[in-house]
Amino acid sequence: MNSRNWIGGEWIKPAAGEVAVTNPSNTIEQVGVLHLSDPSHVIQAEQAAREAYASWSRMSGSARAGHLDRMADVLEAKSDDVALLASMEMGKPIAEMRGELKRGVNLLRYYAAEGVRANGSVIPSSEQNVLQYTRKVPLGVAGIITPWNFPVAIPIWKIAPALISGNTVIWKPAELASLTATRLAEVFAEAGLPPGVMNLVVGKGSQIGNVLLEQIPLDALSFTGSTSTGLNIAQICAKRNIKYQTEMGGKNAAIVLNDADLETAVPLVVSGSFRSAGQKCTATSRIIVESGIYETFIEALSQAVSQIKLAPALDSEAYLGPVASASQYETVMSYVQLANEEAEILAQGPTATGDQEGYYIRPLVAGGLNAAHPLVQEEIFGPVAAVLEATDFDEAVAICNQSIYGLSASLFTQNLSYAHRFLDEARAGMVRVNQETAGVEYQSPFGGMKLSSSHTREQGQAALDFYTQLKTCAISYQ
Ligand code: NAD
Repeated sequence: MNSRNWIGGEWIKPAAGEVAVTNPSNTIEQVGVLHLSDPSHVIQAEQAAREAYASWSRMSGSARAGHLDRMADVLEAKSDDVALLASMEMGKPIAEMRGELKRGVNLLRYYAAEGVRANGSVIPSSEQNVLQYTRKVPLGVAGIITPWNFPVAIPIWKIAPALISGNTVIWKPAELASLTATRLAEVFAEAGLPPGVMNLVVGKGSQIGNVLLEQIPLDALSFTGSTSTGLNIAQICAKRNIKYQTEMGGKNAAIVLNDADLETAVPLVVSGSFRSAGQKCTATSRIIVESGIYETFIEALSQAVSQIKLAPALDSEAYLGPVASASQYETVMSYVQLANEEAEILAQGPTATGDQEGYYIRPLVAGGLNAAHPLVQEEIFGPVAAVLEATDFDEAVAICNQSIYGLSASLFTQNLSYAHRFLDEARAGMVRVNQETAGVEYQSPFGGMKLSSSHTREQGQAALDFYTQLKTCAISYQ
């Protein structure tokens, strides 16, 4: 498979460089080739998106909904094929990847239905015979920059609300998920999406990012990725008065109180920490345990972690696969080394099954750390979790909030008062009781507090607020 750009309905093979894509589960296997774009492709994409905007923004909501429904139908029919490619490209276990495809289809159908929903309100005028009302109108051409860890769901949860609201899109996917992005664009093309409504430009953020952000007229920018990139993007957009949203990093905590039901808590903490090899922005990376249950919990956790299966992504029983790339492997292994040097290793999973060479990292739970330690404070984005002990509920919540990030947080308890107090006091955008830190549903707002987000939200109705602006209309008919 080779990556291609899809611009103005044309398939283009850019020639600013080539990168071989290897399978992170088996690094001697080549999955395809990335063809990198130069700035001219971004400029072409903006022209195509601007031209398409004229008719797409005027199309009825119901006609746009028809397009999104067809995109959902084709994606559903091609789900296995897209899931297979994505698993081979970035290493997410196939079972999880199939779940992500289902989420992508659901997102398209959810936003399709918005095409025929109310999009404003009538506001009584103080004058007679005046009708005053609001309408949510599109912004124009939206730039969409996505990461590799949810190569299908994140692009769709940006593209679908942008399109149903009447915007057109320029999408720059992560290098590590560009083959999957090409396949998704093929799905949209097969579904009959009109030329220029969605334009795919494959390339390196460092090579074409500045053109997208600084050199073309842009009306909105939605970014998901690391905090450092996101903060730069926010600055550039603010200077140009481009409406922006940045969804960034996390260091999410799960608190386990003395009265927690361990049969619920242990599997959900393990899942939150190690599914997708910890490469979710909502992954559990701090486990805060109340003293009274500490020993029992750690024993149960260690037992559970020792049994999870680290295996190639295409093994249908893989609990976690490899991390996505050589650079991910190096970064995460530097934290594993730090844990071996400075922490107590409380639990470690088995080595990978099979004899393939891949970016496999054994799940690891580290303890004996102070609250300021890098393993406790820095986003690792791999299968490494840190445990901290708290004397009571108040201390547990204080530790939970001691982070520059505020994306998601969980509490395991059977005490209703603690549950409510946690939902009130935890400083995170997504707070959950007796549920893992990851897994917020597609119809709910998604986003974080503090350095995890630009304080906007994605998914659900919140996404429609981002991709529209309000127009206040008044008509006098006397
Ligand atoms: P990244 O910041 O390296 O890259 C994200 C995207 O930005 C890629 O498409 C990349 O090409 C692009 N980019 C990089 N430099 C750019 C530049 N100068 N101009 C324009 N675009 C540029 O992040 P990543 O490694 O792909 O993803 C992992 C990060 O994403 C983690 O920090 C994770 O927490 C975060 N993430 C957050 C959420 C969320 O919703 N909060 C969801 C998933 C991932």
